[in-house]
Amino acid sequence: MGEWANGRMSECDRVLIIGGGVVGLCSAYYLSQSGREIVLLDQGDIGAGASFGNAGLLVVSHCKPLAAPGVLKSGLQWLLDAESPFYIKPRADFSLVNWLWRFRGFCNRAHVLRSIPVLRKLHVASFRLYQELSELPGMDFGLEHRGLLMPCLTSAALNDEIREAEMLSEHGIEYRVLGREDAHSMMPQLTPTVMGGIYFLADGHLDPAKFLEAMAGCVRARGVTVMTKTEVIGFRTASSRVETVETTRGDYAVGEVVLATGAWSGYLSRQLELSLPIQPAKGYSITVRRLNTAPSIPILSNETKVAVTPMGGLLRCSGTLEMAGLDLSINRRRVDAVLNGARKLIDGLDEPELVEIWRGLRPCTPDGLPVVGRAPGYENLVVAAGHATIGQSLGPVTGKLVSEIVLGDTPSQDIAPLHCARFS
Ligand SMILES: Cc1cc2nc3c(=O)[nH]c(=O)nc-3n(C[C@H](O)[C@H](O)[C@H](O)COP(=O)(O)OP(=O)(O)OC[C@H]3O[C@@H](n4cnc5c(N)ncnc54)[C@H](O)[C@@H]3O)c2cc1C
Repeated sequence: MGEWANGRMSECDRVLIIGGGVVGLCSAYYLSQSGREIVLLDQGDIGAGASFGNAGLLVVSHCKPLAAPGVLKSGLQWLLDAESPFYIKPRADFSLVNWLWRFRGFCNRAHVLRSIPVLRKLHVASFRLYQELSELPGMDFGLEHRGLLMPCLTSAALNDEIREAEMLSEHGIEYRVLGREDAHSMMPQLTPTVMGGIYFLADGHLDPAKFLEAMAGCVRARGVTVMTKTEVIGFRTASSRVETVETTRGDYAVGEVVLATGAWSGYLSRQLELSLPIQPAKGYSITVRRLNTAPSIPILSNETKVAVTPMGGLLRCSGTLEMAGLDLSINRRRVDAVLNGARKLIDGLDEPELVEIWRGLRPCTPDGLPVVGRAPGYENLVVAAGHATIGQSLGPVTGKLVSEIVLGDTPSQDIAPLHCARFS
């Protein structure tokens, strides 16, 4: 480590990536082909953030941003219920109030229609990259391409889903409407109360922990230096450049910095005087031993706000969105609510064999689009954060874009809608 410390190098070609989640690792992977020195740091271990225990859904068909009409109204109703899938911890926090105000401004149809094609292109490109990555030696991360079923418990919910699917189909997204019989023959494990659903063909899923492990091994083999338990605590800047990154294990002179710190990005970016409105939104996953009869296609329900994903010998139930800052405490009632939500959809979860309760912080922007681009006011700082509920899906395409931006190549996707100056 000694050669990196002291911040002596002013003409430095080192690219320092802060954050060892899916975004940081994918950035390291694509940058590792550049011949530059790449260092990736994380304050914890690889996967200390949201990228370890998430639902692993590659939601190619789900291109609607989090900020959409009706979200605030149902959110406010849920706030009164201790087991609800949505919660905002009341607190005097200007950044939260500011975020909610901006979010409210994006909850409209025009914003949704503008965002769908942007997200659609990113999802499609990212899925292709996952397929490429899965073909590399040693990269077995359980990638499956079996689609996604959205089961419905009421005809009102099914009608809502059909309307949404019709809107998405205008952007080339393929789906099938399933009546009760078709839904149950596709997935015999559905509870008798499921009266139909929508099946999206393009979606995939994977095991996120296996992906992180495989990627960490791959980037190390390609010469990336991975430093865990190394927290970034400050920056030294000069003439619109970050010159030195200060960490708990010494200072690093840098040529380029990539901020891939997920839900922590809003806090860290304040040290750089950047306006990055990213709020953490806690979610839980409960992983259980898979039953012989468990479904092999993932399911996602807008009614119970729960996802259930098969992962090898395991089944993962995920849900809830709690805006409580960086608080990682576990609320047992909400954990139970996630399992209860899953029980409404599939049989066999009465007394599951628990493998792990996990929680992670989703990094949410007010408009539901990630931030990918050079930070305003800095020549050598790239931000790649704010992926909210779709960061696992968009990890590879984000990493590729980061690499293109750092290396000065023409980005393979239109990054104008993702620029962080939109919040200035
Ligand atoms: C319950 C749940 C289910 C989800 N399901 C899905 C899904 O099915 N599909 C999907 O696409 N997305 C899903 N997501 C969202 C997805 O997990 C996130 O969008 C994604 O993991 C964000 O990745 P990231 O690399 O930006 O952040 P993270 O994985 O959080 O990584 C950021 C890293 O930065 C590090 N860090 C922070 N501050 C510092 C510092 N000062 N110094 C050094 N390191 C630092 C952290 O330790 C952390 O490891 C889900 C999220 C949750 C919580």
